[in-house]
Amino acid sequence: MTFDLDIKNTVRTIPDYPKPGILFRDITTLLADARAFRRAVDELVHPWAGSKIDKVAGIEARGFILGGAVAHQLSAGFVPIRKKGKLPHKTVSMSYALEYGTDEMEMHVDAVEPGERVILVDDLIATGGTAEGAVKLLRQIGATVVAACFIIDLPDLGGAAKLRALDVPVRTLIAFE
Ligand code: AMP
Repeated sequence: MTFDLDIKNTVRTIPDYPKPGILFRDITTLLADARAFRRAVDELVHPWAGSKIDKVAGIEARGFILGGAVAHQLSAGFVPIRKKGKLPHKTVSMSYALEYGTDEMEMHVDAVEPGERVILVDDLIATGGTAEGAVKLLRQIGATVVAACFIIDLPDLGGAAKLRALDVPVRTLIAFE
């Protein structure tokens, strides 16, 4: 990938955050770099430029930042997928796998119309548990999940493969082995 190095160099790695043994891939440094931010958003949306996308669904919280920019670029609406208890209107919810145990995510019940074409966005895919939950939530209310996009893939953890097994095309820009 020609954009690999450019974008990858702007991601900051913090060892042992939030706990020992984790290499946290911090995209705030990418977001603060005007060229890298524009490039990442342009590359994420590239395959869908000119096609009809109704909504972009962003996963709390870094998926909101990227998802808003992606939605603007595709002239699509934006839908937040949030942790339980944060959304004010009637919601649908889905439990999803964490490293230890499960959690719940929610979306407003009327955020997407049945049959609408939706792209899911987050900063990073690791085990894929979070994105899998989001895909199931979107499908539960009848959305067509056109693709899932992430800046960063951690391929050793198998998340992208998990989504592809659910028939969701996956786009990632850079990988950390
Ligand atoms: P997963 O459900 O395992 O695919 O985890 C994905 C979610 O956790 C995303 O919202 C990421 O922002 C976050 N995440 C997981 N691992 C990392 C990591 N090494 N660095 C930064 N964020 C991470």
